[in-house]
Amino acid sequence: MLPNKLPTSGPTTKDTFLPSQRKMFRFVLLFHFLVVRTFAWGSTGHELVAWVATQMVAPETETWIADILGAENLTSVANWADSITREEVWSQPLHFINVDDTCTSVENCKFTYERDCLDDQCVAGSIANYTSRLFDSEVHDDYESLKFLVHFIGDVHQPLHCARASDLGGNRISPVHYAVAGQGETWDLHQIWDFGIIENHVESVDGGGQELMGLIDGGKWADELEEWLECSDGMDKGCPSAWGQESVEFSLDFAYVDLDGKQIKDGDDITQEYAEDRWEKVIQKRLLQGGYRLAAVLDAVARTHGTESRNKNYIS
Ligand SMILES: [Zn+2]
Repeated sequence: MLPNKLPTSGPTTKDTFLPSQRKMFRFVLLFHFLVVRTFAWGSTGHELVAWVATQMVAPETETWIADILGAENLTSVANWADSITREEVWSQPLHFINVDDTCTSVENCKFTYERDCLDDQCVAGSIANYTSRLFDSEVHDDYESLKFLVHFIGDVHQPLHCARASDLGGNRISPVHYAVAGQGETWDLHQIWDFGIIENHVESVDGGGQELMGLIDGGKWADELEEWLECSDGMDKGCPSAWGQESVEFSLDFAYVDLDGKQIKDGDDITQEYAEDRWEKVIQKRLLQGGYRLAAVLDAVARTHGTESRNKNYIS
């Protein structure tokens, strides 16, 4: 079920684009995206983030979510934002951060909001925007805002969604070879991280989600949970810039390099050892962090409003 229109304000809280600017902006984006870009963890990754969040939210938050989504749920709407990117071109840059090309190491590679997220047009800006919209009692588009937020908090945790501009977050590192069960073996590096490694490790969202939950419920990351919600700006509005910077660091330390620390390049084989290591050390953790943090943000919003949504744009 798609809404018949997107939020009237588009990507920013107070839409700052004049029609002519918007037109030009769309043209530039269209040109850019013809080059090639994918927009997300694959569908399983987003569903896992949403599934984890669903397990973690407070009961009152569950009620608030159900009031907004009706027959849908967080998991079923987690990929909606990807399904509209072709028609709603303005939404495309909201899924990622291209960090200035000069990045070669963690030391010289920092996400700089003013430089890499011009006019809030990146995944950190979109998370801040849709979180604010959910908090704002004067704004009445909870249905779309919630669906965007579920998706974008997933995206910001995919390391190659906040990565080097020069290769479009690994989209231009192609082909690389890695057999994904039943789906082929020639990909770009970004796809390996969006879905390739996940598809080879997860048979179902329920089963995969339960396995992930075990890693924080007494498992290897149980002691880190408190830290995951730390934010110098406070967590009530999420902490998207810090989450983006974490992804930048994971991309440089783990995604772009093989197990010997060598940069992965066109034509390379992605080894099973690499896939196992990255799944264990990074991907599982990022899926869990995404879900856990999403739950915290939704709890904060629901606490503010009570369980009554302001669901006036709900399209049944
Ligand atoms: Zn996306």
